[in-house]
Amino acid sequence: MSHNCNYLVIRCMDWRLKEGNGITKWLEDNFGTKYDEITIAGGAKDLVSPNSSAYTIHLLDGVEISYSLHGVRKIILNNHTECGAYLKTNTFANAEEERKKLIDDLQTAAKLIIQKYPDIEVILVLSTVSGVTTIGHEIIQQEI
Ligand SMILES: [Zn+2]
Repeated sequence: MSHNCNYLVIRCMDWRLKEGNGITKWLEDNFGTKYDEITIAGGAKDLVSPNSSAYTIHLLDGVEISYSLHGVRKIILNNHTECGAYLKTNTFANAEEERKKLIDDLQTAAKLIIQKYPDIEVILVLSTVSGVTTIGHEIIQQEI
């Protein structure tokens, strides 16, 4: 029996992304409710600059299961501003610098996934979080 789903999202574990205007509602409104989800501190960060290779292996295992078992051919990579996992290891002079790093990492992570799974479409989404509020989400144009 097939139990395919429409997409996989890899996002930060941050609770603010689930509340109110968070990524959960946005994803379901825009891409449907049937999806796999991997939540880990920093979202795509651990594909690009992990604390240890175990994080990357964990993420790629999830991608493989979603791909082979659930037939996923679309992955949504999500990073967000004011992310504790990023602020732990990075210092940003301003919001623009933070945004650039988050987008650069999304694009690098997308390349890594596409290299391994050329038939997967990767959509990059940057969420803007301020304090306890998620302000919004934007699809970032991917540069390969
Ligand atoms: Zn975060």
